[in-house]
Amino acid sequence: MVTSREFAKTRLPLWAAGFVVLICVAILGLSAWREWETRNADLRNAEIDVTNLAQSLIQHADDTFELADTILVGLVHRLELDGTGPDTIAKLQTYLPTRKSSDRIRGIFIYDETGRWLATTERIDFSKLNNSDREYFRQHRDSPEKGTLIGRPVKSRAGGQWIITASRRIDRPDGSFAGVALLTIDVAYFVKFYERFDFGPNGSASLLNNGGIMLARSRDEASAFVGRDLSNAPLFKTWASRPAAAVYYFTSPLDGVQRLSYYQRSSRYPLMVLASKSQDDVLRPWRRAATARMTFVLGLVLLIALIGFYLVRQLVQRQRMAQALVAKEANFRLLAEQSSDMVTRIGMDNRLLYVSPACVRITGWSADELLTTSALAGIHPDDMERVEQAITALKNGEAEEARFVYRQRHRDKGEIWAEAALHVTLASDSGEIDGVVAVVRDMTEQKDLQDKLASLATTDGLTGLANRRAFDERLTDEWARARRDGTQLSLLLIDVDHFKKFNDHYGHLAGDGCLRALSRILSAHARRPGDLAARYGGEEFAVLLPNTGPDGCAEVGEAIRQALHDLAMLHAQNPPSRLVTVSVGAAASLPSETTADSSTLVAAADRALYAAKDRGRDRLVMSGQVVPWPAKTA
Ligand code: GH3
Ligand code: MG
Ligand code: MG
Repeated sequence: MVTSREFAKTRLPLWAAGFVVLICVAILGLSAWREWETRNADLRNAEIDVTNLAQSLIQHADDTFELADTILVGLVHRLELDGTGPDTIAKLQTYLPTRKSSDRIRGIFIYDETGRWLATTERIDFSKLNNSDREYFRQHRDSPEKGTLIGRPVKSRAGGQWIITASRRIDRPDGSFAGVALLTIDVAYFVKFYERFDFGPNGSASLLNNGGIMLARSRDEASAFVGRDLSNAPLFKTWASRPAAAVYYFTSPLDGVQRLSYYQRSSRYPLMVLASKSQDDVLRPWRRAATARMTFVLGLVLLIALIGFYLVRQLVQRQRMAQALVAKEANFRLLAEQSSDMVTRIGMDNRLLYVSPACVRITGWSADELLTTSALAGIHPDDMERVEQAITALKNGEAEEARFVYRQRHRDKGEIWAEAALHVTLASDSGEIDGVVAVVRDMTEQKDLQDKLASLATTDGLTGLANRRAFDERLTDEWARARRDGTQLSLLLIDVDHFKKFNDHYGHLAGDGCLRALSRILSAHARRPGDLAARYGGEEFAVLLPNTGPDGCAEVGEAIRQALHDLAMLHAQNPPSRLVTVSVGAAASLPSETTADSSTLVAAADRALYAAKDRGRDRLVMSGQVVPWPAKTA
């Protein structure tokens, strides 16, 4: 498990983003590479196609010109042997048409040394025709070269169509120029032949001579390309250094179409064939399929990028949250750990999940020692039930917070008073209660102070007996209880005799000592749990005796008077005994029998006290002896 603290510091979002980018780039790269390979394979196949075509076409051209060559060689040989006399020519004129059997040969012509027509396969009147202006004628006349000359395409004088000429010089026996034998081939023948092959919508096949002159080209019905001089085209500019046959990519100077082609030179004639396909035609199917495939791939990559972006954003947000959480946690930890209060987290099983360092001060044990131990350990048995109840109520969702004071064992100091403030905690994911946080504070000093204040408020400083306030409260309570329970309640009012004189004679401090001695006697005689001895005011005391009737009350009062006598404190001004003595007024009541309140009991005892003073002091007088006692009814 990665903690939020570790997560806040990781570079996970960066790595994730990198990973997504890598995947996208990889998919795009692989797809592009594959498409490029497919494209190149398509081009390679097209290259093979045009290579095969070019090889077939050059074979065809070779065959055609070889046939023409054979005929010309035969003719020239015969003319050179027989001369160009009228007999020979007449014979020839009948022979020639038999040579024109194949549709490759358009016509055969014989010219004399002046260019005059001597014989032809054409059925026209040629008596006035002269071809001495033709380039091939001049070339043969001016050069003794004996080979067959393939000329530029020209427009036939005989038929008006484009023709290619093949010609040979005729020599006299002395080697002088005797004329020219010429054979023509229709450009249309080649064009028709080339149409049989499929070069694609924008492909073509061309027959050219080595000088770059176009002899025939497929799709050239209007003869727009025939005779064009392409010697300036790059292919011919570098002609000398080129191999005899090769794949050649170029932009056509004729129609501007980008082509892939294969050219093949003839091994026998100054000719070449160029078979080409339009690169666009070749690549069109690939382009269409590749566009579809790449669209799909791009869509996929876009989807991956979008999902990746979303996930990375989530990661970034989570990391920010984790960072904020870590910062918050640090703050809270500081708060908890620097606090003088002990902060604890209590699990649902009451075990301590976290304890702040202040636990050493409050319990005497270290946080490590307390962790996983029970949160209830060390609680005083008398407080345990209360604490357990509070925690259970919190865990059950009956309360959200609780605050109580309890006693807790301290390792060294024994017992301390502690105040705990408890709060439930909720699980961040489910929102269910998953524990309790308790902040515990040492209350011992406050508790002691509080106890002291409470006792100060109810005790008399000089004698340590209950003071007048405590007495009044207790009297009201006991009166009510006695009324409820139907029991008797008695009261003694005790006043020191001639105490003013005692003070005057022995001093005030001695007077105080005297009062303290008397209070010890009162405490000793208010023995039963409900009895209360109190300083009523000055040198006047009261003893409240619940559950006590007139007899019991008189008995206690008499015992007190006697005990003081037995102490035998000198009081020279108090005749006749010359000891410190008290007068006691006693009253008993049955509160359930009267509607009057507790003041009647005090008043009765007070009257009895006066009576005791009146009758000579140092005695007890029951109030019944002063006022009539209500008759018992039960
Ligand atoms: P009687 O026998 O009639 O009660 O005479 P008495 O002098 O005791 O009565 P009185 O009420 O006139 O005098 C009470 C005296 O008690 C007055 C006062 O000096 C003294 N006294 C009251 N409170 C204290 C006290 O706290 N310490 C001392 N030393 N004297 C006190
Ligand atoms: Mg008095
Ligand atoms: Mg007195």
